[in-house]
Amino acid sequence: MIRAKDWAVAKLTTLGLQNVHAEEFTKDNAWFRGDETAHVTAPYPHELSILGLGNSVPTPAGGVEGEIVMFSSIEQLTGAAPDSLVGKIAVLNRAITGAQGEFGYRDAAPGRREGASIAAARGAIAFLIRSLSTSNARVPHTGALRYTEGAPRIPAAALAVPDADLLERLVGRGKPVKVKLALAPTVVPRTPAWNVVGEIVGREASDEVMVIGAHLDSWDVAESASDDAAGVAICAAAAHLIASLPIRPRRTIRVVLWGSEETGGSGTAYAIQHRAELPKVMLASESDLGAGRIYQVAFSGDPWSDPRLADVDAVLAPLGIVASRQPATFAGSDVEDLRSAGAPVMRFSQDDRYYFDTHHSADDTVNKIDRVDLNQNVAAWAALVYMIVENGVVFHARNP
Ligand code: ZN
Ligand code: ZN
Repeated sequence: MIRAKDWAVAKLTTLGLQNVHAEEFTKDNAWFRGDETAHVTAPYPHELSILGLGNSVPTPAGGVEGEIVMFSSIEQLTGAAPDSLVGKIAVLNRAITGAQGEFGYRDAAPGRREGASIAAARGAIAFLIRSLSTSNARVPHTGALRYTEGAPRIPAAALAVPDADLLERLVGRGKPVKVKLALAPTVVPRTPAWNVVGEIVGREASDEVMVIGAHLDSWDVAESASDDAAGVAICAAAAHLIASLPIRPRRTIRVVLWGSEETGGSGTAYAIQHRAELPKVMLASESDLGAGRIYQVAFSGDPWSDPRLADVDAVLAPLGIVASRQPATFAGSDVEDLRSAGAPVMRFSQDDRYYFDTHHSADDTVNKIDRVDLNQNVAAWAALVYMIVENGVVFHARNP
């Protein structure tokens, strides 16, 4: 995190942004992965490919072992009788559908976030979930869980997709299947983190700000090229293009590289630190869906009667992007606090067919990024952000 912060400050400065600085905030708990193993112990020994879920508690030294119980949905797990999982390990094996939008992932994400607490409330000693992956590779995908306040906390990990299917087949044979899980993560309380900020200060109404950005933090298992180095590159490159113009736009563009999206905290810290400016946030958006081509843009409310938006369709059409008249209701986790406080947002939808093949896994590497698609993102952000801060569209319908 410290190296990322220093890199980002130097990079945004080199790219021609102004007022570049790091804004410190405190993470309540910084979670560090430790040694992790999982094995089938009955009916025969077999090593499983897993990754602990972020925020998981450790197992006792030596691990936990129990018979597994398979579930195909979070609803089925929630429907399990009280005490029906005492001494057992709950396994949620729900496939996600790969599609152009991120809906398959969003539908399955509650299982990863809340599954451990739901299983623990029914007596389970551990929770395993099929990776939220659209790939069939034997590579597990991590992500954060969130324990229910005051409820028992059990260790939790993601299984590689073929390993989840293997457990399903073993259980289908009718004999008890046992798994042993050992996780040794540690937590460091009250750790500093940083949002890195740089601006193109508007030449006229500099206090009116469009907030764009991406997140600097990532999961620990890879270089995380798509989540979210791609977003950092897209927003930084778009800002650089605008900063390179002979005349600065009328209003201010603020690039924020958020420091703790994955386990949370950076968007909230930003919204608190910038509370006073909130009425002057003309629009906010985060690029956090990799480098797949953008196919649609949407805004909060219904700004389309504003004649200054008349050129949006013409500007985006050559890039293959449709301007939706449906209101945007989400524009990235790090601008969610701004949005819920009333700031209007802009959402680019991207082709995610391949994004969830590698997302949050050791396979999220830069060779998966398509340069042409990345450039299409940069072009869309540069063109639309410039148009909005120059024209001064008021996205007055707040909080759809
Ligand atoms: Zn992300
Ligand atoms: Zn992520």
